[in-house]
Amino acid sequence: MNAIELTHVTVAYGRNEVVHDLSLAIPVGQLCGIVGPNGSGKSTLLKTINGVVEPRAGSVQVTGRPLARMGRREIARMQAVVPQETVVAFPFSVGEIVSMGRAPHLGALQFEGTEDLAAVRRALEVTDTLQFADRLLSELSGGEKQRVVIARAIAQEAPQMLLDEPTSFLDLKHQLTIYELIGRLRKRSDLTVVVVSHDVNLAAQHCDRLVMLKAGRIYADGSPAEVLTKDNILAVYDTQVVVAAHPHTAAPWVMPYCGGE
Ligand code: ADP
Ligand code: MG
Repeated sequence: MNAIELTHVTVAYGRNEVVHDLSLAIPVGQLCGIVGPNGSGKSTLLKTINGVVEPRAGSVQVTGRPLARMGRREIARMQAVVPQETVVAFPFSVGEIVSMGRAPHLGALQFEGTEDLAAVRRALEVTDTLQFADRLLSELSGGEKQRVVIARAIAQEAPQMLLDEPTSFLDLKHQLTIYELIGRLRKRSDLTVVVVSHDVNLAAQHCDRLVMLKAGRIYADGSPAEVLTKDNILAVYDTQVVVAAHPHTAAPWVMPYCGGE
């Protein structure tokens, strides 16, 4: 079964059409990376999958059900989201922010039970943020904040996780931690993950599949080795590169072409 299915989806902001007649099916359990240059529509695509942005034409299905007919809470039980930028308007503590991940599981005016508290604690532990639990989110560094937002998504325990540039503020160690975490979560369940990344190398090492966007259309779709070719990167990023294989994983490794030869 497909976890996510987009059929002939077109998305526009006012008169500006940014996703054009795009069809994409993501099977349950897949770790699918979305890559492409700035402005190619990656974030828009993720927001369309999450129902935050409504397509002008076409349809989105989540586990076989039309997204347009699902309510916000229902979507939140299916999908945990790590947005590209998280704006928190109130002075919430880290513990409070991560607890919000449990909201889709609670009834109106219902308080968190032991199960919820345990899920929050686990999420804080695995993201290495337990030590910040009582601090205000606004007092953390960009990378620390990012891990808290990821902790909130983990605490949500949804079958699908959508991440928009989750590693962009993270140092090398924590970049790897995020993908290790996703790997561990996938071993425990049939988690489907869609991750937008401008870091093609990181995505190539960890994703089962890459979808490469160019100006709101799918330019290439397949295994990282099929998608990250010299020619595709030249066509989509307008950049000359050298593609090698990572010595341990054999997945493609893209480097800028610096003359020579
Ligand atoms: P990416 O994530 O690949 O960088 P986006 O999906 O954010 O690309 O943006 C795709 C295009 O849509 C860009 O041209 C951007 O300027 C435009 N866009 C994105 N969000 C909005 C918005 N809220 N209103 C109007 N235009 C937008
Ligand atoms: Mg984006």
